[in-house]
Amino acid sequence: MTVYAQPGRDGSLVTFKPRYENFIGGGWVAPANGNYFENPTPITGKTFCEVPASTAEDIELALDAAHKAAPAWGKTSVAERAVILNKIADRIEENLEMIAVAETWDNGKAVRECLNADIPLAIDHFRYFAGAIRAQEGGLSQIDDDTVAYHFHEPLGVVGQIIPWNFPILMGVWKIAPALAAGNAIVLKPAEQTPASILVLVELIADLLPDGVLNVVNGFGLEAGKPLASNKRIRKIAFTGETTTGRLIMQYASQNIIPVTLELGGKSPNIFFDDVNAKDDAYWDKAQEGFTMFALNQGEVCTCPSRALVQESIADPFLDAVAERTKKIVQGNPLDTDTMMGAQASNDQFEKIMSYLDIGKQEGAEVLTGGARADLGGDLSGGYYVQPTIFKGNNRMRIFQEEIFGPVVSVATFSDYDDAISTANDTLYGLGAGVWSRNGNIAYRAGRDIQAGRVWVNNYHAYPAHAAFGGYKASGIGRENHLMMLDHYQQTKNLLVSY
Ligand code: NAD
Repeated sequence: MTVYAQPGRDGSLVTFKPRYENFIGGGWVAPANGNYFENPTPITGKTFCEVPASTAEDIELALDAAHKAAPAWGKTSVAERAVILNKIADRIEENLEMIAVAETWDNGKAVRECLNADIPLAIDHFRYFAGAIRAQEGGLSQIDDDTVAYHFHEPLGVVGQIIPWNFPILMGVWKIAPALAAGNAIVLKPAEQTPASILVLVELIADLLPDGVLNVVNGFGLEAGKPLASNKRIRKIAFTGETTTGRLIMQYASQNIIPVTLELGGKSPNIFFDDVNAKDDAYWDKAQEGFTMFALNQGEVCTCPSRALVQESIADPFLDAVAERTKKIVQGNPLDTDTMMGAQASNDQFEKIMSYLDIGKQEGAEVLTGGARADLGGDLSGGYYVQPTIFKGNNRMRIFQEEIFGPVVSVATFSDYDDAISTANDTLYGLGAGVWSRNGNIAYRAGRDIQAGRVWVNNYHAYPAHAAFGGYKASGIGRENHLMMLDHYQQTKNLLVSY
């Protein structure tokens, strides 16, 4: 067990600046209006740094820098870019613990997740796209004896990227790595709730990239996000966030006829068929663990398995077992590696989850465990902690249909296969899903019948860089990860040549 020192105290691995500026053209630049906002850590609720409350003027400055850098960066060889991406990965790996602590302090999540998942995945993402860009091939078609059509991949130029607060570094890297690999220059706007860890990361890797290739402008959605997403000088906007914001982003992009990638919300079903019930077997244990994944990252995951559907015949023993297991989830100081669940990322998010705990109770859902704020006392008493909560109800309730984005799972039972699939698909969303069955036929059919871009079968919450990720229905447009991500950051040039 390790307990990392809090930033600001002796022995901390991270030193945050008391005031950050925007990162533009390879240097730190104050916001044009001179305004900053306070950034508290969700762990204690106390402010630890100030960050620019940027506006359109700062976005324009960042776009100037990106446009200056883009032509030369786009002309570097893929081998050169791959070397840089690998160096970035190495640099992050050498500083893994420092970045993990920065991410925990900014976001509130358990440091063990940052150490074992978020940051290693971010490192692997840079390495994957370093390899992917070198492996990418163009195309050649013979038109007739004298004429050949060549297909080239070209970068888009300058792209805008807007990210949410639930995995600030990983969501940033999911966008930054493929865009850089494909030869684009970037203006990125982090979420206002978690602006600091990504700046620590950028500071760490800044010397590895030419000035202006990666620019970060902080601020709020309407003041900084909109001027970026609606800007005529970007060739693409990549967005991760809420579905309601995604609709606006698409409207802005339509004015400029540029492509969008939208990674939006979810209400993911996790289906447990009756053959999971074999108490003395490792699979029973694994299925229970799959259920408790609803509390991973405090439930602040777009693919959170927030609706569990359990076959009627096993509902009683299964729900008793998972309720007991949920009670054993260790909540505490997020900087302690024994802690399994940390703080919600912001006070607003904490209040939103608390309101859904009330809504669930008012709708008549049964609370199987949790259902309240977690009071952790001491230093942590000002932080934003919620008990992992299991509600039992039905799929028509708001707690089954609306994204809570907290450690709350809503459970319903089902009678047979058709009932399970129709309930699973009875949602606006189509991002993630889980299927648990040892019957290969059922597992395969369910995996195909569920309308979601990612279905985990007999596992949950794995995010390898080489598996395509993205939403059906209101959960988004386009894919992240995998080779196909490169297509979202490139355009195709066709050269039709007669010899
Ligand atoms: P959000 O939509 O409120 O904010 C996301 C980002 O958009 C922030 O940086 C914000 O400042 C910016 N923004 C807000 N309004 C804007 C506007 N009008 N124009 C431009 N930018 C604007 O979302 P959030 O609360 O930060 O994130 C949580 C949401 O993200 C959840 O719905 C979650 O499911 C989703 N999410 C999806 C994925 C995925 O891969 N599908 C991954 C993580 C999170």
